[in-house]
Amino acid sequence: MTSDGGIKIPSRLPLLLSHEGVLLPGSTVRFSVDSPRNMHLVSQRLLRGTSLKSTIIGVIPNTRDPEHDTDDLPTLHKIGTAGIAVQVVGSNWPKPHYSLLITGLCRFSVSSLLKERPFVLAEVEQLDKLEQYTTPATEGATAEDGELGELSKKFYQAAVQLLGMLDMSVPVVAKFRRLLDSLPRETLPDVVASMIRTSNKEKLQVLDAVSLEERFKKALPMLTKQIEGLKLLQKTRKINPDNEKRVLSVRKGGVFPGRQFNLDGEDEEEDGDDTVALEKKVHGANMPDAALRVCLKELKRLKKMPQSMPEYALTRNYLDLMVELPWSKSTKDCLDIRAARTLLDNDHYAMDKLKRRVLEYLAVRQLKTSLKGPILCFVGPPGVGKTSVGRSIARTLGREFHRIALGGVCDQSDIRGHRRTYVGSMPGRIINGLKTVGVNNPVFLLDEVDKLGKSLQGDPAAALLEVLDPEQNHSFTDHYLNVAFDLSQVLFIATANTTATIPPALLDRMEVLQVPGYTQEERVEIAHRHLIPNQLEQHGLTPQQLHIPQETTQDIISRYTREAGVRSLERKIGAICRAVAVKVAEGHRVTKTESLIPESPTEQGDKAAPPEMPIVIDHIALKDILGPPLFEMEVSERLTLPGVALGLAWTPLGGEIMFVEASRMEGDGQLTLTGQLGDVMKESAHLAISWLRTNAKTYQLANMVGGPDPLEGTDIHLHFPAGAVTKDGPSAGVTIVTCLASLFSGRLVRSDVAMTGEITLRGLVLPVGGIKDKILAAHRAGVKRVILPKRNEKDLEELPANVHVDLDFVLAGNLDEVLNAAFDGGFPGTASTHTHPQLTSKL
Ligand code: ADP
Repeated sequence: MTSDGGIKIPSRLPLLLSHEGVLLPGSTVRFSVDSPRNMHLVSQRLLRGTSLKSTIIGVIPNTRDPEHDTDDLPTLHKIGTAGIAVQVVGSNWPKPHYSLLITGLCRFSVSSLLKERPFVLAEVEQLDKLEQYTTPATEGATAEDGELGELSKKFYQAAVQLLGMLDMSVPVVAKFRRLLDSLPRETLPDVVASMIRTSNKEKLQVLDAVSLEERFKKALPMLTKQIEGLKLLQKTRKINPDNEKRVLSVRKGGVFPGRQFNLDGEDEEEDGDDTVALEKKVHGANMPDAALRVCLKELKRLKKMPQSMPEYALTRNYLDLMVELPWSKSTKDCLDIRAARTLLDNDHYAMDKLKRRVLEYLAVRQLKTSLKGPILCFVGPPGVGKTSVGRSIARTLGREFHRIALGGVCDQSDIRGHRRTYVGSMPGRIINGLKTVGVNNPVFLLDEVDKLGKSLQGDPAAALLEVLDPEQNHSFTDHYLNVAFDLSQVLFIATANTTATIPPALLDRMEVLQVPGYTQEERVEIAHRHLIPNQLEQHGLTPQQLHIPQETTQDIISRYTREAGVRSLERKIGAICRAVAVKVAEGHRVTKTESLIPESPTEQGDKAAPPEMPIVIDHIALKDILGPPLFEMEVSERLTLPGVALGLAWTPLGGEIMFVEASRMEGDGQLTLTGQLGDVMKESAHLAISWLRTNAKTYQLANMVGGPDPLEGTDIHLHFPAGAVTKDGPSAGVTIVTCLASLFSGRLVRSDVAMTGEITLRGLVLPVGGIKDKILAAHRAGVKRVILPKRNEKDLEELPANVHVDLDFVLAGNLDEVLNAAFDGGFPGTASTHTHPQLTSKL
């Protein structure tokens, strides 16, 4: 039958094994797919293919795909229908499955199986002629003669008779009518058999009838049976509009053109139990009236929907979420300020100011049960324990904790959800978080509020404002839920690296608590009190197995990490634990050169023995595990030439030391600046040069040929290394002046001095920000003397005592004082050239 032209289906077809529905050519059937081979067919073939051909698959009726991939394939029905997958819908409810809408094209028989996994692929032979029907139905019919012509005529008439008994105003019936007149008669048995009410067994008979004649013979009795049935029905029941509706009810697995005549009018609700259970849950969820009303409405809709409709799953998901949300479930606060203090102290070393403020906050909340008040926002470099404090707060209150990462969120639907009209719509992070914690009064940590983005999809900060505003958030409406949820019991805490990029309106609602970086000593303490015990536990080790001495920790901190917090320190300790865990697990060989055991072991030779406990990590072991040191003390090395000075900078990641280098060459007074500088920095450089030129005489500065104007016949190049980091801000002013003064005078800047401060044209030094972080960075880098603006003196109070002891602070009111303190033995021309700096503070 395939030989006489027409459209050819591919000779190799992937096969969908259908258990329930039978697809006949010319009709469209929805198949629910959940067994392994069928799932693979969808995911690896239908969803990957890009050509039209890849959407053609074979449907083999009457075969259940085994539950497991590895199981043998049962014998396949010999005839199937090639069809085009016109729609694929995936869903996770009640279990992962796809729903496929397939339009049948023609019959085929399986010649041979090519493979069974991951899905079945077979060589097939096309059995029906497939062509574009352009000929009107009547012509096709007249071409037939003999018995076939007779049969097809009878069939057509019966179909017309059936139509006559139905109400033409029903769209399905009207469509049937149109099809009947426009399709060639030989397609009628297939199309009609799939439209009228037939059992799967009957459809299978039609499918198996390969010869047209037989097909008419098989389908005709079904049609007449239908007519008889309808006649009977009309006799017994007076068809009123209500009955009509029932007669033409939609049936599960309905067929193209979409509906099937259900002449028995019986209710085919299969998921009745399920929706009843859901209804119970809806009533039991304790939700407010408005939400309950919406749920009941949706439930009513759900009951009317066939399960295979994509919208069924959507509605069902929605209702499931509504039922799950903690409308009135909450945990009881158990706040005891004294216990809270102990817990905070036990969990965190140092950060006293922060802990004090948190306790105040909690105490106020205890006295005044209302939650209205500012939202705490912890601002500081990464790894200083912001998240961890948030977690402790939840613990002290006995509340659930949930972290919402806001970094990179630039779509307001991330916060507020997508409307349910979108495909793949879902609730926002707030509602999702509530679902996860299962109570309505958790502690929500809004992490990285400074990294909120903005895009065409609306401003997430605005959505967040609504969430945080105590005046509004009792009726927060997520777009997906579309009913208000009361957020007023949620305790929000925010974290950020810098306040500079927090949207101002948001910042306004928050009380900012700075969490500065730690000093070397604090870090050692944190490591020994918290990080090492935690890491040991996480790696299944005990202090009896691994010992990290204090000196080693100091070494890790100064040579393997350069950070304000303790995160990479924690990672390095983790790396040590892993290395030791391997040794312990191996029960490794003890040899003399074994560096993990510094105490030379008593045993020698090849005998395998457990390592001596505890394994002590010394310098050599450290190098073995972590590799060569990543950072060396470079400060003194780099300050060996005139024209280099050490500045201090502030970044959202904490303080940094920053070198400024200058060189000069013959030229015509040009200034070149490199190292990714912002405008303010460039201005500082110009200011510095102007000031030095003005005061060149006083300071005995000279140009390359010894003239009084340093710029005459000279080009100057100023460079700020670490070019990957954009630098801006006025605080490098004093450093630039010092660097240039060193260049012009040919004298070295003291190698242990770092400085920060803004300058004016008249040589005054103005205060700058981030002093504590900058000083900690200087301390980390091994600097001994720090030059600061005088008006920053108050900031020194916040410094830990040991930093005070280690560093020598020079508070400078003008550039004279700066230069004097920066060079050994003072600077020529300044008020006191030889004495030690004028204002040394050792507070
Ligand atoms: P952040 O949120 O500031 O980036 P985290 O809260 O994630 O930092 O802290 C990183 C790690 O450092 C956590 O394991 C935390 O317990 C630990 N940590 C940070 N600061 C302290 C501290 N003061 N005392 C004890 N552990 C700390």
